[in-house]
Amino acid sequence: MDSSNYLKIKNKIPSNVNILAVSKGVESQEIKTIQNLGQNDFGESKFQEAFKKQVILKDLRQIEWHFIGRIQGNKIRKIVQSFKYIHSVDSFEKLKKISNISLEEQKNPFIMLQVKLNNDPTKGGFNPELLISKWREIQELKNIKLTGLMTINPRGLTSKENLELFKKCRSLANSLQLPDCSMGMSGDWEQAVDAGSTWLRLGSLIFGQRS
Ligand SMILES: *Cc1c(COP(=O)(O)O)cnc(C)c1O
Repeated sequence: MDSSNYLKIKNKIPSNVNILAVSKGVESQEIKTIQNLGQNDFGESKFQEAFKKQVILKDLRQIEWHFIGRIQGNKIRKIVQSFKYIHSVDSFEKLKKISNISLEEQKNPFIMLQVKLNNDPTKGGFNPELLISKWREIQELKNIKLTGLMTINPRGLTSKENLELFKKCRSLANSLQLPDCSMGMSGDWEQAVDAGSTWLRLGSLIFGQRS
């Protein structure tokens, strides 16, 4: 890893857009290096892998951990115990379970709901119409701080197509009065910024290609 990559990207991104450094597949030592440069938000997609690093890095109190991976029902309690942010809540059932468990655990995680804005069969997420129809019920759930929507664009789109999908996410979030959009990765972050992302999830751009 070349830590100057982090500073380069940091300087290109408007200061009102947050960077989530996606550290899956990355050793704790590299997380430490980037944290030293002032980056405190780190995203992980597998609970076991993340938990090991959280234990090793527990003295770095400023680190905020974000869960961005597929959520397995039997891992929800552990995720709620160990992550302050959960970006990848992709169904109403999981959201309800997170709310119930958060209440039991006396936690109050920040939540972003993953939405599916096109028909990519490999990705989960709320269908926008379903989200709108469940909105009242969702708002009544306890012990969650629902701050935004999250989306992952399919690979291989043109910049224009990426931009259009990100704009859909932004306008859906606006219509629900949600401030955050977790959107944009190493390959499409510029379009995400143009569309109004508030959280860019950047892995390879910061840490280099994963093996
Ligand atoms: C791995 C991953 C990222 C980061 O991907 P890069 O292309 O390396 O920036 C972002 N979001 C999610 C959900 C991921 O799984």
